[in-house]
Amino acid sequence: MNHEKKDSVSKSAIQIQHVSKTFYQGDVAFPVLNDISFEISEKKLVTLMGPSGSGKSTLLNILSAIESADSGQINVFGNKLSGASENELTHYRRKTIGIVFQFFHLFPYLSAIDNVSLPLYLSGTSKTIAVAKAKEALSLVGLSHRKDFTPKEMSGGEKQRVSIARAIIHQPKLILADEPTGNLDSGSSEMVMQLFSRCVRELDISVFLVTHNEMIGESGDINLRMLDGKILTK
Ligand code: ADP
Ligand code: MG
Repeated sequence: MNHEKKDSVSKSAIQIQHVSKTFYQGDVAFPVLNDISFEISEKKLVTLMGPSGSGKSTLLNILSAIESADSGQINVFGNKLSGASENELTHYRRKTIGIVFQFFHLFPYLSAIDNVSLPLYLSGTSKTIAVAKAKEALSLVGLSHRKDFTPKEMSGGEKQRVSIARAIIHQPKLILADEPTGNLDSGSSEMVMQLFSRCVRELDISVFLVTHNEMIGESGDINLRMLDGKILTK
């Protein structure tokens, strides 16, 4: 009898407790994240806005396990990032998360299908399976017809859809995206946001994205604001 209730309780995707980070230039300290705590439940589209220099990218890089926090606890879908070994972090990056960049980070001379399949192939999946999954992912982002084209032959919006295909090919639990529409026209931005929305609704992937666009920054299930290394509470 209790099952129904239990199942309806949503699980935690991101738990951040008392996270701080300071950068040093010589002896001068630049505190960037200042005792941040928040929790996000799974299957949410989360947006994060804030002025330049407020610490958004640093927070995203810590969630991506590209940078480490100085103190505090970070737990993403049961992965404790603070104190994790390099092996555990590699596993986390390969299995749990997918990353989407503002400037795509695609190989300009490789076809879309090669760009999407390469990370999977390099992490040990057979070429046949990696290519089959890449075809599926490209079809999901509506680019089957462009699979043999290179990024050099694509629009910004198409390139970002290729990089979303690359980010979801291994069925991650969380997509982390730093200003993914920052370099796109409004039509392409809308298409990219629709894709992120589908990731959440249809693929059960949580999305956490940084944006400077007010409209996008209001469009998430959860819309966070950052100022001077702190998440503002509404
Ligand atoms: P945002 O993404 O909100 O613009 P960032 O997280 O990139 O902010 O940066 C926050 C502050 O930290 C900025 O003042 C930036 O100059 C500084 N910063 C970021 N990365 C480094 C670094 N590797 N070394 C020193 N300072 C850094
Ligand atoms: Mg930034």
